[in-house]
Amino acid sequence: MIVLGVESSCDETGLALYDTDRGLLSHALYSQVAMHEEYGGVVPELASRDHIRRAIPLLQQVLDTSGVAKHDIDAIAYTQGPGLAGALLVGSSIACSLGLALDKPVLGVHHLEGHLLSPLLASKPPEFPFIALLVSGGHTQLMRVDGVGQYTLLGETLDDAAGEAFDKSAKLLGLGYPGGPAISRLADFGDPLAYKLPRPMMHTKDFNFSFSGLKTAVLTVVKNHPAQGIANICEQDKANIARGFVDAIVEVLTAKCVSALKHTGLKRLVIAGGVGANAQLRASLNAAAAKKRFQVFYPELEFCTDNGAMIAFAGAMRLQINPAAAKKDYSFNVRPRWPLDELRVV
Ligand code: ATP
Ligand code: MG
Ligand code: FE
Repeated sequence: MIVLGVESSCDETGLALYDTDRGLLSHALYSQVAMHEEYGGVVPELASRDHIRRAIPLLQQVLDTSGVAKHDIDAIAYTQGPGLAGALLVGSSIACSLGLALDKPVLGVHHLEGHLLSPLLASKPPEFPFIALLVSGGHTQLMRVDGVGQYTLLGETLDDAAGEAFDKSAKLLGLGYPGGPAISRLADFGDPLAYKLPRPMMHTKDFNFSFSGLKTAVLTVVKNHPAQGIANICEQDKANIARGFVDAIVEVLTAKCVSALKHTGLKRLVIAGGVGANAQLRASLNAAAAKKRFQVFYPELEFCTDNGAMIAFAGAMRLQINPAAAKKDYSFNVRPRWPLDELRVV
């Protein structure tokens, strides 16, 4: 069965073809970050308009590179939510129009389920059950995953998401948008002893997180810095602050993963979402895994942030369980807000 995936929930247009026999056939992505950079964040209306421009050429690209003909597509999976309403509407209308034109069934996919299952696209996929840490631009959740659609939320952030904390702290240090990768690179040159920032909720007995205080701690360091203003802080000291921030967030994320594994008795940890690309987080989790004897799985780097492959894959997984989950009903609706634990096995 060949599934076409369409992702358009935020500022990446992603198209992909996944074959349940042969695996991922092709995928194509256009990131709008350069367009949004000058505004310091995603402008929803610009995002929607750009998805319209990019989607069809990307579709042609995945068809051309895979050699699949349009009529060989068996079903079309599109991101139904959560995300920006206008951006979601573009992907869903394109998916449904294609379905109508080709007489193929369509299926709305939950964006976070896409992220969550993306490590299963890797060459050594984890088996169920596992603990998943979803760390993206909009979410930070720890979940117990027993199978496709079987997600139990253990804890989540009470305020900022991990990716949001990376981006906001990077902005305070005068790094561009999205600043996650930049603050991570800078932190590599920082002195770990220069700034000791708080580890919010690290020792609470639950699996919740809170990162807005950490961002405020970065703000306070910058504000009280003798150089008076970020432009005057030398590169080395900026790197030291970056290091203080990265060490704090990585330590909290690692500690909560370890305690979720201990609490459930599970031995497999799966990381998903954009922050899962972070080198310091991976190093810390790998060290914990070696020490505490659990396995840790990551998506391929290119599938950490938004992409079409994870949507095609999540759609295919659901269709393997229940082929009737895709329907020739093209009256699409989007769900900009959609809690993951509302999902069920199909
Ligand atoms: P959501 O999936 O919750 O709707 P999103 O789709 O915007 O949010 P993703 O695409 O999964 O989120 O991830 C984007 C986030 O990941 C951004 O905040 C970005 O800064 C962060 N990020 C990406 N690479 C890295 C990295 N190497 N280190 C730290 N953060 C990173
Ligand atoms: Mg993005
Ligand atoms: Fe995402």
